[in-house]
Amino acid sequence: MQTLNSLLQRGRELLTEAGITDATTDAWLLFEYVFCMSRCEFLLKRDEKADEEKTEKFLELAALRSTRIPVQHITGVQEFMGLEFLVNENVLIPRQDTEVLVEKVVEWAGNQGTEDISILDMCTGSGCIAISLAWFLKHAKVTGADISEKALETARKNAERNGVDCEFIRTDMFEKVSGKYDVIVSNPPYIRSRDIEDLMAEVKMHEPPAALDGGEDGLGFYRIIARDARKFLKDGGCLALEIGFDQAAEVTALLEESGYESIEIIKDLPGLDRVVFATKHWR
Ligand code: GLN
Repeated sequence: MQTLNSLLQRGRELLTEAGITDATTDAWLLFEYVFCMSRCEFLLKRDEKADEEKTEKFLELAALRSTRIPVQHITGVQEFMGLEFLVNENVLIPRQDTEVLVEKVVEWAGNQGTEDISILDMCTGSGCIAISLAWFLKHAKVTGADISEKALETARKNAERNGVDCEFIRTDMFEKVSGKYDVIVSNPPYIRSRDIEDLMAEVKMHEPPAALDGGEDGLGFYRIIARDARKFLKDGGCLALEIGFDQAAEVTALLEESGYESIEIIKDLPGLDRVVFATKHWR
């Protein structure tokens, strides 16, 4: 039998040998999942002997992770904005980069002088954007839209899990959207079709292609949003879009053509262009 600490190190080695980039983080996530142990508890108990059954389970999951299954598909969850989201092969795994998009909308909403704000999250997937906005903006009315019924099933479970009220609608982009919103937010698929091939195995093999593929030039969904979102935005409302790090100029141009004003580019934590934020004041 080995100690908890030596077992965790063994897991890290196994993942490193398998070429897993975030071996240390992933070994810990699997360890936490199997042993139901916080970091603090682990530090106190690190020299204690590890339970045999759990040891076996942990090594089994490390072997599974070594085959490039995303760690989130093994543990079933991903943290986003301090909340926990269920994930599976039907939804994009929430990315930390997307948090800046949520933060920007929360900041904008805080300056509106009313808490009564309506928000549409287009391509909601796991619902991570819609649900965290509903969580932070307690009085907002939030709607999440997606073409995939299976994604919406997961989004509904996530809303319930996090104790927020969100409406979810199945629609191909704006087809079944009605009414007017103060905010339209979206993290649409934006990878160029030909670049999907070069993504990490975890993404390419296990995340839904429909959540990644932005068409030939990666801009397909931004074109639809630039053309259609304005019909559903209130005057003075805002449009907040996540973008690929090299898409700021092209997406800005699409929005300018559609008459959006005061277009702002916001960077993510690593310093890459990540969000295009625009307001609408049609005359
Ligand atoms: N809105 C979800 C997210 O940001 C899903 C996005 C998508 O499927 N492209 O994670």
